[in-house]
Amino acid sequence: MRHEWHQLSYPAVSSPGLQTSRPTVDSAEDAALGLDRWRDLPREQTPPWPDPAQVAEVCKVLDVVPSVVAPYEVDQLRQRLALVCEGKAFLLQGGDCAETFADNTESHLLANARTLLQMAIVLTYGASLPVVKVARVAGQYTKPRSLPTDARGLPAYRGDMINALEATPEARVADPQRMIRAYANSAAAMNMLRAYLAGGLADLHAVHDWNKGFVKNSPAGERYEAIAREIDRALAFIRACGMTEDEALRTVTLYCSHEALALEYDRALTRVSDRRAYGLSGHFLWIGERTRQLDGAHIDFISRIANPIGVKLGPTTTPDEAIELCEKLNPDNVPGRLTLISRMGNHKVRDALPPIVAKVTAAGAKVVWQCDPMHGNTHESSNGYKTRHFDRIVDEVLGYFEVHRGLETHPGGLHVELTGEDVTECLGGAQGIEDLDLPDRYETACDPRLNTQQSLELAFLVAEMLRG
Ligand code: PEP
Ligand code: MN
Repeated sequence: MRHEWHQLSYPAVSSPGLQTSRPTVDSAEDAALGLDRWRDLPREQTPPWPDPAQVAEVCKVLDVVPSVVAPYEVDQLRQRLALVCEGKAFLLQGGDCAETFADNTESHLLANARTLLQMAIVLTYGASLPVVKVARVAGQYTKPRSLPTDARGLPAYRGDMINALEATPEARVADPQRMIRAYANSAAAMNMLRAYLAGGLADLHAVHDWNKGFVKNSPAGERYEAIAREIDRALAFIRACGMTEDEALRTVTLYCSHEALALEYDRALTRVSDRRAYGLSGHFLWIGERTRQLDGAHIDFISRIANPIGVKLGPTTTPDEAIELCEKLNPDNVPGRLTLISRMGNHKVRDALPPIVAKVTAAGAKVVWQCDPMHGNTHESSNGYKTRHFDRIVDEVLGYFEVHRGLETHPGGLHVELTGEDVTECLGGAQGIEDLDLPDRYETACDPRLNTQQSLELAFLVAEMLRG
C-alpha cells in the first residue's frame, strides 16, 4: 500500500473539548473501574518506600494536579496505532533508558527529539510509510532492577522518581517526594516539547536544522543531508505546481511514553473521563519484562486504563502467555490498544519469536508487533561497562524482520534507547566505538544508549528492511 510521505490523513478524533476529569480517589466510579485492585495483588519491583503515610500524602497531591497529557490525545494515539496494527504505518519509539532530573534540560530534550525526528524522516522517506513517533520522555523516571543492591552493596538505583543515582546510602533511600519532582519535570518537558513542535521544530522546511554539529559531517549525517535535499526539492516542486502546502508539513505530534512501574504515580495521575479511566501520566504506558506476571499488580492496573499500552516479551515468554496477555489486556480486541514488544536478544529472536507470533496471529488477536533490540543484547565490556554492540542490535532487528516476513505479519515498530548526544555507550557503528572508548562519554544513568550517529545508521538500515 502506498502513502504520501510524511503526511497521513488519520481518522478524525473528537475535538478536545472540555474534559470531564474527576480528580478524586476512592470515588464510587474509580472503585467500579477497579483502579485500586492492584494494591491487593502480588507486586514485583515495589519501590522500598520507608513510610506508606508519606506516599499517601504525595499521592493526594498528584490526585488533583493538572495531568501531563489529555484523554483525546491518548485516543488519537490509539487510533494511529490501529493503522500500525493494520500494516499501514510504523511505530518509532525511543529515548533515554532512564530520564534524570539533572538532564531534563532544554538542550537534552531538543537533542533527543531532533534525533527521533531525523530517524522518523529517514524511515518515512525511505520506506514510504507514515511513522507514529513516541518518545521515552516526560515520565521515564523509574527502573526495574535485577538485584536489590548494586556492586558496592548499596540499595540499587531505581530511577529518579524513587531514589538518587549518587553512590551513598542516604541518596539511595526511596523518597516519595521524588514523585512530585518527577511529575513537575514531566509536565515541564511535555510543555516545552509541545511548544517547540507547534512552533516549527518539526517543520519539514527545517529538516536541515535537525542535523546538528557533530552528526552533520559523519557518514550517517551526510546520507541524511541527501534525503533532506530531496525533501527540499519535493517541497519546491509542490510550490512550483501551485499546490497548497498542508499543515501536516509543518507540525508533528510527538507522544510521550514510560514504563508503568511506580504504580502509585501512574494511579494517582489516572483520571476518569466519560466513564473510562485514562492514565494521564503519559500517552503510551508499558509493562516491563520483570513485572508482566498475569496475576500481578502491574498487569491488573494497566488492564483498567484506556491508553494504548505495551508489554515487553523476553525470550522465556511462551505462546500461551502471550495469548493470555492479549485476552487480559485487550478483551475487546481493539486494534492499536496493545503492542507486544519483543526483546529476545539477537541469538534467540529467530527461535523464540515465531511460535509467539504464529499463535497470536492464529488466535486472531490484533496487536502491534514492535522490536526492542536493546534489552536482550546487553553485556559487560572488558573494562567493566554495561554496553551493547551495534551489530547485535542490527542483527536482532534483522531477525525480527525475517520472522515477520516468514509469517506474513507486519513488522510494525522499533523501540530503542537513544540520545541526541555524542555519547560512547554502545559499541560499533561507523565510528567503530571499542571497549576502550566507552569511558570517553559514558553518561547514562542506567542502560547504554545509541548515540545520534548510531541511531541514524540504524534508521537507514531499518528503512531498507521495510522496503524489503
Ligand atoms: C527498559 O525498557 O528500560 C527495560 C527495563 O526493559 P525490559 O523490561 O524489557 O528489560
Ligand atoms: Mn533500559
